[in-house]
Amino acid sequence: MKKTLTPKERMAIERVKMPEQDPRHRIGNFEEVNQGLTEEQAIREAQRCLLCKNRPCVAGCPVRVRIPEFLAALAEGNLPEAARILLADNTLPAVCGRVCPQETQCEQVCVRAAKGAPVAVGYLERFVADWALTHPDKVHKEDRPEPTGKKVAIVGSGPAGLTMAGELARKGHAVTLFEALHETGGVLRYGIPEFRLPKHIVDTEVARLQDLGVEIECNVVVGKTVTLAELREEFDAVFVGNGAGLPVMLNIDGENLKGVYSANEYLTRVNLMAAWRNDHPTPIIRGKRVAVIGGGNTAMDAVRTSKRLGADRSIIVYRRTEAEMPARIEEIHHAKEEGIEFILLAAPLEILGNETGWVKGLRCQRMELGEPDASGRCRPVAIEGETFELEVDVVVNAIGTRANPLLTATAPDLKLNKWGNIETDEHGATNLAGVFAGGDIVRGGATVILAMGDGKSAATAIDAFLKQKG
Ligand SMILES: Cc1cc2nc3c(=O)[nH]c(=O)nc-3n(C[C@H](O)[C@H](O)[C@H](O)COP(=O)(O)OP(=O)(O)OC[C@H]3O[C@@H](n4cnc5c(N)ncnc54)[C@H](O)[C@@H]3O)c2cc1C
Repeated sequence: MKKTLTPKERMAIERVKMPEQDPRHRIGNFEEVNQGLTEEQAIREAQRCLLCKNRPCVAGCPVRVRIPEFLAALAEGNLPEAARILLADNTLPAVCGRVCPQETQCEQVCVRAAKGAPVAVGYLERFVADWALTHPDKVHKEDRPEPTGKKVAIVGSGPAGLTMAGELARKGHAVTLFEALHETGGVLRYGIPEFRLPKHIVDTEVARLQDLGVEIECNVVVGKTVTLAELREEFDAVFVGNGAGLPVMLNIDGENLKGVYSANEYLTRVNLMAAWRNDHPTPIIRGKRVAVIGGGNTAMDAVRTSKRLGADRSIIVYRRTEAEMPARIEEIHHAKEEGIEFILLAAPLEILGNETGWVKGLRCQRMELGEPDASGRCRPVAIEGETFELEVDVVVNAIGTRANPLLTATAPDLKLNKWGNIETDEHGATNLAGVFAGGDIVRGGATVILAMGDGKSAATAIDAFLKQKG
């Protein structure tokens, strides 16, 4: 294939389709659904990029990956250069290439989207990142910078903490990352299932940070094992990226029945503690008829997991319509392909139990859309007298999470908002000198890339703070 194409030739190339596991087959396994592009497909797709001067895609990316540059290198078949550019801008590209909502970010503003399909930036990010993981000898090795003598503690090893760790280690600061769980990755590890994000990807991305000198201490619950005040004494700066993992309860009758899970517990049992493996001791109730309440990525992950655990009927119960669902479009599409049922405009009223305390059903209220609320989405309104029952044996609550007060309860001086999230300025600085925060603990439940963006910008602020401190 010739290497330099005219804009007309680029426009003539059709967007690549991601090879996927057949839905009939994949509902019986936990292997990745998307299979990744071949090198030939990736190069051809990269050639669709028009290399526009104003680069809207870069502005559409919260961590400002130089997308046209890495695509230009890929279009020429120069994979080491594409990987060098991508890895310099994004600490977790193999993760972002799989789970970022590109359709509302870089791909949404791609000029090709105006006249058809945008360049498949996410697929190409994944391709280059995976190539880099499997060709470590061909990837530009970063030199370890001169140590600055400054020590920074990071609380939480989700995308915010991991990005922060990479950025600070590259500036020569000594970084120690404290994680409450026995494994790193935050939601990437315990929330997002293997069939969307294989855990070996998280392992390799974390190992790359350890190569840069990042120290990781798991099983340390900040607020219990050690307090924020103690970390401030020992370290020159602290970054808090402990996420928002506390489930919001349904507050309806029957919530304490056997067979009711919060999505976090359900997914943690499966993903972190391998309950999907028959040879593993972690118990999980493998319901035959499972209702998952919610319409976000968490709900899609839980309902598709229930199918893979053997449910005959896996049902989403959501109080608005599909148009308002916060889940990624690809996840909704994959869920439908897998036979997930969607009961829309329905809200749970009561979880019904049998005489031994096990779930036997879910009573729901029919809803309709009313006026838009503060978020701009139409408010769901109950239709008086219209209720129905679903026969189910497991109910998973995926309506959302909020800040866990475990850390903040032992740091009374730290300023919080009314929902318990840490308040920061636009650079991630809290009201306590030398304490910064970012990711879901500041924003409430958001996205991987926004958490990473917070980690990246707060790292610049911490670096400036440390230099000023002298
Ligand atoms: C099931 C699920 C699916 C999702 N799917 C997507 C998706 O497809 N795309 C997308 O962009 N976003 C998705 N999200 C949202 C995204 O994962 C989060 O916005 C993101 O992980 C937030 O990153 P974080 O670093 O702020 O926090 P987290 O990822 O929550 O990490 C916080 C870490 O801090 C640790 N921690 C908590 N308290 C303490 C403490 N006291 N001491 C020490 N460590 C502590 C936690 O154990 C955890 O490891 C999903 C979320 C869930 C739950």
